[in-house]
Amino acid sequence: MCKADSRIPMRKLRLAAAVAMFACSVWAESAWAGEWHERTEAIMGTRIYVELWGEDAAKTEAAIDAVMADMRRIDELMSHYKPESQLSHINAKAAQEPVQVDPELFDLIKLSTHFSVITDGAFDITYASVGHLYDFPHHVRPTEAQIKAALPGVNWHNMLLDAEHHTVRFEHAGMRIDLGGIGKGYAVDHGIGILQARGFQHALVTAGGDSRIIGDRMGRPWVIGIQNPDNKNEVVTSIPIVNSAMSTSGDYERFFDEKGVRYHHIIDPRTGHSASKVRSATILGPTATETDGMSKTAFVLGPQKALEIINRMPQYDAIFVTPEGRILYSNGLAPPDEKPKAPPSKPDAKAPAKR
Ligand code: ADP
Ligand code: MG
Repeated sequence: MCKADSRIPMRKLRLAAAVAMFACSVWAESAWAGEWHERTEAIMGTRIYVELWGEDAAKTEAAIDAVMADMRRIDELMSHYKPESQLSHINAKAAQEPVQVDPELFDLIKLSTHFSVITDGAFDITYASVGHLYDFPHHVRPTEAQIKAALPGVNWHNMLLDAEHHTVRFEHAGMRIDLGGIGKGYAVDHGIGILQARGFQHALVTAGGDSRIIGDRMGRPWVIGIQNPDNKNEVVTSIPIVNSAMSTSGDYERFFDEKGVRYHHIIDPRTGHSASKVRSATILGPTATETDGMSKTAFVLGPQKALEIINRMPQYDAIFVTPEGRILYSNGLAPPDEKPKAPPSKPDAKAPAKR
């Protein structure tokens, strides 16, 4: 069996044409007692997919039920589309008074500020102060005047979080938050936690672009394909992973095109416009909450700056597709010929000059 947290530089293995997930050989499967169970449901406005290896069919199906029920619970708590959710209460009231929420929601809001810090502000849940003016399915976008008026509301520093009382207060009128950029990763991690608590050791949980895998797939890695931004039936590369999370953000998920410009759902908190410095960004890391929180960075800061950030943190890897169609890898995934060479050693100033 594969060891934990292996990420294998994929291009070396030349598995690029693999489909999103593939099963391993039948003979290997028959050596295992049990079978794969899978289910897809529509929750959180997206596709939730659970696949796991179970020896007892009833227990395995009950575990999938529990994961799906938990996804619904999280959606009820955190959806900005549901007027009765606690998150909607924050948006309705927090500019007037501190709003108390469940510790779970409070903690995720607090955690989101950590991603604002490490992404140099690219990830900012207060982006919603402008973001709510877009309606992608109906091709609606704000005017420049509307953006200008709403933009002062975008700044996570103006969100006051009281950890003792679990309250959220907005310092600026017109502020809003939404957890669309981290909530699915969080829900995936919860789903995996539920499966692990029930003793399952081989599973995949996916919510939209966010996935996490525990264990391997019949002694071999799971293989995840990265979609061609211009063709959903084609993958540009594939990565074998074991015991890892992965999030892909793409400008092809929620968008409309107008006069040759693509308006899509990842918003630059500094400008209020769609952030288009890459076409897609995939982040690999230990948990889906983290990879979700990191996957918007390259859209806003650009691939080079985002790679600098990712390469500083050994727990993360990244694959970006640029507007020109180039595929960029972080150091941990780059083929050996693309890895940065060690800098030449500096001459020692104190060494005596050679004669
Ligand atoms: P998915 O919804 O498939 O998980 P992403 O992980 O790419 O997609 O997240 C996109 C969502 O993130 C948007 O729909 C929006 O809710 C939110 N979002 C957009 N821009 C930002 C931003 N700059 N910071 C934080 N969240 C954002
Ligand atoms: Mg996501």
